[in-house]
Amino acid sequence: MRTLVIGLDGAEWNVINPLIEKGLLPNVKGLISSGSAGDLVSSIPPITPCAWASFLTGVNPGKHGIFSYQKKLKKESSYFVSPLNSLDIHSEHLWHILGRHGKKVSFVNVPMSFPPQQVNGCMITGMMTPSTESKFTYPDALKKELSDNGINYRIDLEISKEVNLLEDQSFHDKYFLKDRGEKFFTELYDITDQRFRAMKYLMANKQWDFFMGVFIGMDRVQHYLWKYLEDGLNGKMSTIAEKIFDYYSYLDGILGEIVLLAGDNTITMVMSDHGFGKYKGDFLVNRWLLDQGLLADNKQNQKFIPWIKNIAHRAGLRSEMLYKFFGQKKVNSLRMSTQQIDWSSSKAFSVLSHGIHLNVKGRETMGCVEKGAEYDELRDRLIDGLYKIKDPSTGKPIIKKVYKREDIYNGSEFDDAPDLIILSSDTDHYGIYSSRHSHDDIFYKNTWKTGDHRQNGIFIVKGQGVKKNYEINNAYIIDVLPTILYMNDLPVPEHVDGKVLKEIFVDASRKILRETGSEQRPQDDIYDYGEDEAEDVKDRLKQLGYID
Ligand SMILES: [Zn+2]
Repeated sequence: MRTLVIGLDGAEWNVINPLIEKGLLPNVKGLISSGSAGDLVSSIPPITPCAWASFLTGVNPGKHGIFSYQKKLKKESSYFVSPLNSLDIHSEHLWHILGRHGKKVSFVNVPMSFPPQQVNGCMITGMMTPSTESKFTYPDALKKELSDNGINYRIDLEISKEVNLLEDQSFHDKYFLKDRGEKFFTELYDITDQRFRAMKYLMANKQWDFFMGVFIGMDRVQHYLWKYLEDGLNGKMSTIAEKIFDYYSYLDGILGEIVLLAGDNTITMVMSDHGFGKYKGDFLVNRWLLDQGLLADNKQNQKFIPWIKNIAHRAGLRSEMLYKFFGQKKVNSLRMSTQQIDWSSSKAFSVLSHGIHLNVKGRETMGCVEKGAEYDELRDRLIDGLYKIKDPSTGKPIIKKVYKREDIYNGSEFDDAPDLIILSSDTDHYGIYSSRHSHDDIFYKNTWKTGDHRQNGIFIVKGQGVKKNYEINNAYIIDVLPTILYMNDLPVPEHVDGKVLKEIFVDASRKILRETGSEQRPQDDIYDYGEDEAEDVKDRLKQLGYID
C-alpha cells in the first residue's frame, strides 16, 4: 500500500464548497464522497511555515520551534530576526520517520523543506527556498535530471522585484488590473504546470511508498485577489473572478490526474495548512505599543533611516548599488524598521508576526522588565488593551484571541516563543505581520492584498478502511502525521503531540503502536542563508506582506 498527500496551500471550505456546487471541482467532490472530510485546525498562529512544520513533525511549535516566518537571533543581537529554514525545525520530520522504517519517499514543494535533507528517496524543496540558483533538490543531481527532462522548475511567483513599489497605494491597479491579471495568471499557470510535470516525473520514474506534493497557487491567488474571488462566489463575476475559477478548476484536474497515477491501492489525503478570508489591512503592533508608552523611538535613527531609504528609492537604486556605496551590512540593517526602536527603554516589542515579546531582564540583551509581578501585570495589561482595539468602520473588536505562550506551547524550544500570541477576528480581520511603528495610525492598508489566513483549513482522506461520506469533526494539523503512520502500520513516536484520527475508520479497533523515537532531529546541523539568499527569501516574504 502507498500513501499520497496533496497539499493545497490555503485551501478553504468557504471557497471549495461553492465551487463544487458549481460543478468546477469534480475530482475534489469525488474524493469527499468516497472518503472522510472536514476542517483541519491549523497551528497557532495559522501561518504557512508554522503550520507545515507542525504537519511535518506532529508536534506543537514549543517543540519544533517555528513560531513565525523568521527567527529571533540569539543573545547580542536578540532584537533582530532572520528567515527560517528546514534545519530550524527541531523535531524529527516525517521523512526521517518514514525513512527509518525503510519507506521510500518523495517530497515536492513542501514549505520549510529547504535546504534539502538526505532522505530515503527524493526531495524538491518549497517556500523559503531562495531561488533555483541554490541547491533545492535531493539528491543534488535531481536538479539536472529535471532540466534534462524539459522541466523548468520554479520556486514561486514574483509580483515585483522592486519590493519598494508595494508601498505605492496604486500598486494593485498598476499591476493586477492593468492587464486584467494576465501577467499574474500566465506566470501562475507556468509555475503550477512545471511543478505538476516534476511530480509526474518523480511518480513515474522513482520508487515511492509515500509521495507528497504541495501547490501554493491558491494561497497566492487568495492573498492578492480575494476580493474578486469572494465577489465571484456571491454572483458578482468579473474577468479576474473568471480567471480564478478557471485556475481552480485546472488545479482540480491536476489533482485528478495525480490520484489516478498513484493507483487504487493508495491512501489519498488532500489537506491545507490554514483557511482563508477577507483582509482589511495590517494592525501595526509596534505602533500601538508606542501609543501605549511601552515602545520607545530611537530619535537619531528615526530621522536618518527614512531619509536614506527615500533617496535610494527615488534614485531607483537596487540593493547591489547601495551595497557599493554604504556596505552590505549597513544597507540590510536600514531595511529593518525595528532599527528605529530604542531597545533599552522599550518594555514590549513585536519582531515576529502575531507575537509580542516583553523586554525581560536577563533574557533579552537590554531587558528592562523584571520577571515575576512586573512581567505578569504587563502581560495582563497588554491582553486587556488588545481586546479593546476596535475596527474604525464597524466598531467591533479586531482581536479574536490573545494567548499567553504557556497556554499553547510546551517543549524544548519554548523559550524562543513570543510572550503573547495574537489572532485577529475572522470578520474584521487585520494581518499581524508588520514590525513598523513609524506610521501615523495603528492600521495600515496594503491595497494590493485583500485576503489573509484563517484557522481552519481542509482535510480529505480516502483509503481502505476509511469511512465514506463521513464528516470529520476534530482534526488538527498535528494529527495528520500520526494518522499516516497508523494507516501504514508504523509506530507513532512517543513525543508526538497529535492523535491518530480514529473517528475516520470503519473499524478503529487496531492498536496504535508506539516507539521511543527521537524528539530531536537526527542531524544536528544548522543552515545559515548566504546574504543574497536571505535577501531573496525576504523579498518573497515582503511580496506577500508577511514582513516589512
Ligand atoms: Zn499557507
